[in-house]
Amino acid sequence: MGQETKGTCFSCHESITEAEARAHLEGCKAIEGDSEGFLLKVSSEKDPSLYWMFLGISKGATLHTLDQFLRETWLECTGHLSMFTIEKLHFSSHARGDFDKSPIDTQVGELLSPGLSFTYLYDFDNSTHLKLEVVSEWGHCPQGQIALLIQNHPPAVDCRECGKGADLLCDVCFGSICSACQKGHACKEHILKPILNSPRRKITAAE
Ligand SMILES: [Zn+2]
Ligand SMILES: [Zn+2]
Ligand SMILES: [Zn+2]
Repeated sequence: MGQETKGTCFSCHESITEAEARAHLEGCKAIEGDSEGFLLKVSSEKDPSLYWMFLGISKGATLHTLDQFLRETWLECTGHLSMFTIEKLHFSSHARGDFDKSPIDTQVGELLSPGLSFTYLYDFDNSTHLKLEVVSEWGHCPQGQIALLIQNHPPAVDCRECGKGADLLCDVCFGSICSACQKGHACKEHILKPILNSPRRKITAAE
C-alpha cells in the first residue's frame, strides 16, 4: 500500500497532488463562479491519500445539497441513511423527532467557518466515513450550489490473475480483473463491473 493518488483540476485539467491542491486552486485562472462560500476538502477516513476532493460550496447551499452531491459523486447512492456531525450536532438525512432540532436544510453559511472539521457517515450498516475540512473562505462558488474543483484519479489496482492494471471487479469474489483475463475468470455466475472511483469500493486483495 502507501499509494497516493494525484487529482485533476476540472477547471484547467492540470494534474496535481493533494499537497499542491490548495495553492493551485488559489492561483487557477480557469475557475468560474463568484458566489461567496467555502473551500471544502473531503476525504475518506479509511483511505485519505487515495480518495479526496476539493469543493467550492456556496454559503447559500444547504447540508441537504451537500448530502445529495456526495451520494451522486462518490457513494454509489442506493438510498441509505446518512448523517453529518458538526460540533456535536447531528444532521440526519432522514430526520425525525429529536433530529428535527438540527434540520439538514440548514444553509452551510450558518454552520461552517474556516478551520472547522466535521464528519459524514453514509450507511449505518456497511458504513463509509468521510472527513470534511473547511480550508478557507472561497469567493468562486456557483450561486447556492457546489462545484467539484479537484477529484482524485482512480487508484491503480492490479489484476489478480496477471498483475497488470485491472479495471473490472467480480461481484462474487470481489477480485480485480483486467479485460484480457475476464474470459478465464473462474467464479460461477459472476458479473464483472467497472471498478468505481469511490471510497465505498470493495476489493479483496490477491493472495
Ligand atoms: Zn486549475
Ligand atoms: Zn489480467
Ligand atoms: Zn470472482
